[in-house]
Amino acid sequence: MKINRRNLLKSSLFSLGGLLIAPPGRTGIFADMAVTLDPAGRIFHSPLVREYFLEGITPAASPIRLDSNENPYGPPLSARKAVAEAVAGGNRYAWQEITTLIGQLARKEGVGSDAIMVGPGSSDLLERTAMAVCAHGGNVVSADPTFMSLIRVAESVGATWKAIPCKSDWSHDLGAMEKAIDSNTRLVYVCNPSNPVGTVTPTGELMDFCSRVSEKVPVFVDEAYIELADGATGSMIPLVQQQKNVIVARTFSKIMGMAGLRVGYIASLPATLHLLQKVTRGGFGISYTSVLAASAALTDQEFQDTSKKLITEVKTYLCDRLQEMGYAYIPSYTNFVIFPIPIAGKEFLGKMTAKGIAVRAFDIGNNPWCRVSIGTMDEIKQFVAALKSIT
Ligand code: PMP
Repeated sequence: MKINRRNLLKSSLFSLGGLLIAPPGRTGIFADMAVTLDPAGRIFHSPLVREYFLEGITPAASPIRLDSNENPYGPPLSARKAVAEAVAGGNRYAWQEITTLIGQLARKEGVGSDAIMVGPGSSDLLERTAMAVCAHGGNVVSADPTFMSLIRVAESVGATWKAIPCKSDWSHDLGAMEKAIDSNTRLVYVCNPSNPVGTVTPTGELMDFCSRVSEKVPVFVDEAYIELADGATGSMIPLVQQQKNVIVARTFSKIMGMAGLRVGYIASLPATLHLLQKVTRGGFGISYTSVLAASAALTDQEFQDTSKKLITEVKTYLCDRLQEMGYAYIPSYTNFVIFPIPIAGKEFLGKMTAKGIAVRAFDIGNNPWCRVSIGTMDEIKQFVAALKSIT
């Protein structure tokens, strides 16, 4: 069954991929694209993944928001102060400030300023990459499950998606992905650590894969959660330093706690950025206040360390409780945890929502799963109590 997005929005507001009310890539010029529901009324994400939603319920309206992998501790005080001070400059475009931010990021990542593009969240850069690279069709190879933002936009501009099932431990099957590349492949998308499963691909294996594959097609590595991986996997930015055709995306939304301020960036070959400049001017979409907030937060190592410590503590608490309760959660290298649940996804969402808690419920294969973001300790204690009472 296909339903028109506008009609869907009239009857229900729901969130996907951390974006309120619409699946990633379906806003703006994609507003009239159909959202595909399967016969059971679940949103079709991929051959493996269906998502439940509740009609008429806005998850973000729940007092306890554990559905979008936000960082409850942000924004850092440094960023808040920068925003307050920047408000008075909001009559100006942020040309100079964007250039300064790009320079800071280039120094941090050890690449030239011409290898960095900033954008209003990394989603925007994922989507722009899909638009530019897949403008003439072709296909994108990625794991399934994965984060769907880039893929949905690639499909919307005429590309097809080669979805390669994850391995049994939910890590990327790099061998199968490499085999799936053909003469029509325009891009390989790797989400590391991966959303929605939270797993990592080992640094060495991924480096080898990206080095080899990028000789044939560009590899996009989405590192939205990399700072939370605690060394279990490493960034692919060194490959950009080595002039490989790899595009690495990072965001201020997770470790920096600035999801609503909307800042992300990519590092890649300058030639790739030229291609993207056909569909975006990069940082021009970021507000003056957010550019300055990002500049301030970038050097706020104390905030990042504290965030990571608190998120890790709460995640450990949650996983210990899940284990005691017999839930087979997937070990997570992110700020969310996903685990199979014993009741149908819609019923589960309904019961959680009734308790004021927003989470996500998917079917992966034929089994229902809950994905819960790591909120504060108090929020996670309330989630655990709710879980005990409803299952
Ligand atoms: N990549 C992944 C894997 C994500 O989970 C998200 C947010 N949910 C993003 C990119 C986009 O984040 P943002 O646009 O806020 O930078």
